[in-house]
Amino acid sequence: MAVNPSAIVIHVQRGQEGAAASDSPRTRKGVAILGATGSIGTSALRVLARQADRFTPVALTAHANVDALAAQVARWRPAFVGLVRGVVPRGSNWSSGAECLIAAATRDDVDIVLNAVVGAAGLPATLAALRAGKRVALANKETLVVAGSIVTALAAAHGGSLVPVDSEHSAILQCLAGRESHEVKRLVLTASGGPFRTWSADRIATATLADALKHPTWQMGSKITIDSATLANKALEVIEAHHLFGVPYDRIDVVVHPQSIIHSFVEFVDGSVLAQMGVPSMELPILFALTWPERVADNGVPQFDPVTLGTLTFEAVRTFDFPMLALGITAGQSGGSASAVYNAANEVAVEHFLAGRIMFGEIPLHVESALVALREMSGESLDALLAADAAARHHVNAQVGL
Ligand code: NDP
Ligand code: MG
Repeated sequence: MAVNPSAIVIHVQRGQEGAAASDSPRTRKGVAILGATGSIGTSALRVLARQADRFTPVALTAHANVDALAAQVARWRPAFVGLVRGVVPRGSNWSSGAECLIAAATRDDVDIVLNAVVGAAGLPATLAALRAGKRVALANKETLVVAGSIVTALAAAHGGSLVPVDSEHSAILQCLAGRESHEVKRLVLTASGGPFRTWSADRIATATLADALKHPTWQMGSKITIDSATLANKALEVIEAHHLFGVPYDRIDVVVHPQSIIHSFVEFVDGSVLAQMGVPSMELPILFALTWPERVADNGVPQFDPVTLGTLTFEAVRTFDFPMLALGITAGQSGGSASAVYNAANEVAVEHFLAGRIMFGEIPLHVESALVALREMSGESLDALLAADAAARHHVNAQVGL
């Protein structure tokens, strides 16, 4: 894809001026949480509980977990509730169907849309929110992997803003602090290495679901936990960083940092390197995405104490033993529909692994097979990208025999 190195943080800076949030006459900003019942969604509600004088959740959505959503509704009394699949409670005014995400994201009383849906299913709501000029606090990295150029162009065109929730990208945003693109030499994303960091390649190939779900440093939803074990998550994050900050792929590196204390680095052209550190809690980047460019006091995150942290270590990635990383970065570099295919094939392969239908070591084989089979598919428009996404899902399902 054509790269515009001058685009670093332009997308987010533009949003600062035009975001609906800053124009709101309300004293508290209205937040729509898409994926409220998930790991990021529930962390966000804990942040909002502490920041109740600044923010209020006016819309909450879930996929199918009626009970968890009903408990949140009882606690927060949001104006809008959406359930994508399943039966809404009798007598409730909940909305249903996939369109409820868009309805939640575009409401007049919503200033900030926290997109914490998992997978490409989050894309339409991001697009709708940006078209409506909202701030999107983006946890749903798949949005940028499927349609990064379209999404960042929309953010720029309608005065909306895109602020990352992903801890690495939040770290980079904080380190960049508005520096010019020509001052940046390299972005370095840190990776915990996941549960198989020290395992042999043979052992990784036959790892069980229980092994793969044991993430050493983060508590997260099951899909991203498996992505962290394969290192697909880091490939998704390299693509996400490329689109968010406009940095070419050959200036984005990954280093393994098992303690997850340094969330990423920015190396500047004069050789100076800035890093952002903090205890591994997603509540920090969630709050920053809501308040950026300001910082507000928050007493919810454990005190940072360097003395008790122990030693911080860094290692090179074992690229050969974790093929999902290079497959994803190559897909990003290839442009067109490749990263949409990579993402969709990975989503389906992970579903099959979670359901016990394929082995851990088969995930990259299915993804690579989809990338090869669909390499000619166009990525020229949103419709073309969605067609590539659908074809990749079909390809992997057919390989698995479904
Ligand atoms: P979870 O699986 O814990 O939660 C996903 C949420 O999205 C749930 O509320 C779920 O509803 C809802 N959901 C699932 N599928 C759909 C769908 N098809 N349409 C609408 N809603 C849906 O995921 P996480 O919170 O871990 O991750 C969410 C996003 O944030 C992902 O993109 C992930 O990569 C990203 N992220 C997560 C981090 C983390 O620490 N967890 C860190 C950085 C990024 P229900 O409960 O009803 O199933
Ligand atoms: Mg991350």
